[in-house]
Amino acid sequence: MKTNRRHFLKVAGVTAMGLAAGAGTAAASYLPHYDHVAPNHDHLTAGRWGMVIDTRKFHHKEDFLPLVEACHKYHNVPTIPGNQEIKWLWTDSFHHSFPNKHNEFLEEKMHHQDFLLLCNHCKNPPCVRVCPTQATYKRADGIVIMDMHRCIGCRFCMAGCPYGSRSFNFQDPRPFIAEQNTDYPTRTKGVVEKCNFCAERLAEGKLPACVEASEGKLIFGDLNNPESEIRHILAENYTIRRKPDLGTEPSVFYII
Ligand code: SF4
Ligand code: SF4
Ligand code: SF4
Repeated sequence: MKTNRRHFLKVAGVTAMGLAAGAGTAAASYLPHYDHVAPNHDHLTAGRWGMVIDTRKFHHKEDFLPLVEACHKYHNVPTIPGNQEIKWLWTDSFHHSFPNKHNEFLEEKMHHQDFLLLCNHCKNPPCVRVCPTQATYKRADGIVIMDMHRCIGCRFCMAGCPYGSRSFNFQDPRPFIAEQNTDYPTRTKGVVEKCNFCAERLAEGKLPACVEASEGKLIFGDLNNPESEIRHILAENYTIRRKPDLGTEPSVFYII
């Protein structure tokens, strides 16, 4: 049974978020609740998953809230005040999001607008290269994902990620989850976490929670398929990526 579950987790590409191997972690109650979640015949597949964020469709700070809430509620991301914040999907200014795109003649609205940020599921992910235990790895479909069984909490990946896409659980996050989603495991003290491009939802044939909540503001699809919607959108619109000069090749694009 144990073997079967491990096998499934590999097949589904779903991280067993929960059981950390490192010091200061681990709790028997921290086992994942994936037994009833199985990839079905409708599971979504791609050569390389990617996302386009149409920033023109976000007008107010409130426009981001349903997306962030959808992600964080679904994935049991705790709300921890202060500098121990855990974030999978968040917003920041143009200046912080795209530091190399600033110029003195920048359109005025860019100075005031926020931008939606998440893990870029980089084609060349430095976080994967620096992880000593292969807890972070890149799947064949481009999703950069974590196996929590292997995370020892060393935080090399946080130092390696140039986008601040990873958060560390300095304390037990569970008391800070308002309403727990029993379909998704919680984490514990001493492990890193981040956006997983909703791998568990793709395995069930569902789009990412933030995409579903975005009402067309986010487009998700196969970057390797020239006939996919996302490729058409990329061909028809000017897009930018975060810190492209670093050579990480983000899979998240922004229409500005
Ligand atoms: S954004 Fe950061 S965490 Fe995500 S794949 Fe790239 S380097 Fe890794
Ligand atoms: S903290 Fe990051 S680098 Fe260290 S084991 Fe966990 S995933 Fe790998
Ligand atoms: S793709 Fe999924 S995990 Fe990533 S930010 Fe969107 S809802 Fe969260």
